[in-house]
Amino acid sequence: MAKAKAPAKKAAAKKTSTKSTSRKVAPKKDAATELMELFEHGLKDIYWAEKALVKALPKMEKNASSPDLKKAIAKHLEETKGHVSNLESVFSIIGKKAQAKKCDAMEGLLEEGKSILEETSIGAVRDAGIIAASQKVEHYEIATYGTLATYAKALDLKKAMTLLLETLDQEKNCDETLTDLAKGGINLDAID
Ligand code: FE
Ligand code: FE
Repeated sequence: MAKAKAPAKKAAAKKTSTKSTSRKVAPKKDAATELMELFEHGLKDIYWAEKALVKALPKMEKNASSPDLKKAIAKHLEETKGHVSNLESVFSIIGKKAQAKKCDAMEGLLEEGKSILEETSIGAVRDAGIIAASQKVEHYEIATYGTLATYAKALDLKKAMTLLLETLDQEKNCDETLTDLAKGGINLDAID
């Protein structure tokens, strides 16, 4: 009988905690009140992320063993530098100074990328890990640029939209290249 009572208590506690977290969150003083502010906030976030990637990618390249994977990372490092300058152009289009705001999501993804290096032996297994971590980063960027390009369109910022779509294309291509490398041999090499 004592056993049957315990889960009931647990369920009640869970119910209470759901109630306390389901309230509407009070906005901060500087909270965005219109789409343009949300756009600017997103730009600052991904600007931080792209600059962090420029610093992180050389380590990934150094840790990769497959020459094709090294080449793909080196190519994307150059593209990433272009993403930084594309964002600077978008900031100037909206008449704002380029400013980076720490992106918690990218910080977490890069932390995960670092741990995968320690958790894998050098060779195909580490390469497979690098691909996995990199694809999470690319998917985050794809989601972000898709959103920002859509905002730019809604805000009638055509030039900004073109720049964001150009970056989006390169993120998608990078993601596809990584899939091809994984399927094209690295995953199978990592089995043995
Ligand atoms: Fe990028
Ligand atoms: Fe990227």
